[in-house]
Amino acid sequence: MEPKVKIVTVRSILTKSNLPVADYSVNPYIGCAHACRYCYASFMKRFSEHSEEWGSFVDVKYWPEIRKPGKYEGKEIFIGSVTDPYQPAEEVYGRTRNFLEEMKGSGCKISIATKSDLVLRDLDLIKSFPDARVSFSINTLDESFRCQMDDSVTIKRKIDAMGKLHAEGIRTTCFISPIFPGITDCKAIIRECKDKCNLIWLENLNLRGEYRPVILNYIRKNHPDLIELYEKIYVEGNRSWWFSLTEEMKRFCDSEGLDYVRNDDSMMRPFEAQPVVVNYFFHDEVKKKATKTNSIN
Ligand code: SF4
Repeated sequence: MEPKVKIVTVRSILTKSNLPVADYSVNPYIGCAHACRYCYASFMKRFSEHSEEWGSFVDVKYWPEIRKPGKYEGKEIFIGSVTDPYQPAEEVYGRTRNFLEEMKGSGCKISIATKSDLVLRDLDLIKSFPDARVSFSINTLDESFRCQMDDSVTIKRKIDAMGKLHAEGIRTTCFISPIFPGITDCKAIIRECKDKCNLIWLENLNLRGEYRPVILNYIRKNHPDLIELYEKIYVEGNRSWWFSLTEEMKRFCDSEGLDYVRNDDSMMRPFEAQPVVVNYFFHDEVKKKATKTNSIN
């Protein structure tokens, strides 16, 4: 379904951020046509007077020319904390590209989060930023599960795009998020992507938003064998499954010769080094605070 598009004017596109990895966040759109069924950013509806279903609307932001882009020298800018900056609307409106063009040469560092290979269009521009990084969310290698969970590009297109950017010297992150207990095969994703990225993040599925019943109903209907586990985790609040996964991933990384750390964003290793696997389980408590800040755009 094509989303309903509206043009909006905002006072500024840069918002001070308390994300652990950024000084500012930038979201060139409100809403996201990728419509991930588990999207934590769907809370943005409340702040943008949208009552429609998440994924069915996209507001395209226009902003005044960024004054003194040089003031952002050395600052970390995270693009895409509550929207996908390379969702289909970007092909038409090019607001992310416009932002990058405005900031080119400013000395800022950019970090882009996406689920689309449209980011390749801006490769040359991205390369012009120091230490640019691009992360791709991939939580399955099963295309049928991916289709049931989001309307983004295929898994293969994402992984190919990650490989191309990495081959061009851009630091990439394979963001295994959200991990669906009993469904996401972290080891298989790591094996598939480890030669194409510098960092691998692991993030647990968080079911606190209005998508909670949607996901639980999905599991009940499509994976009845897992509903007991999901109720234990998400109704009783039992975290033991995550502790077991933590131990399992430690052993796996050991056997693969990969470093495994917690909450440590180790992007400054040599580019050619093996990726570091970062456990971000329950990082959502921090993220929740951060996304509130981002919502004032
Ligand atoms: S791509 Fe990101 S912002 Fe867009 S719907 Fe999915 S999780 Fe939400």
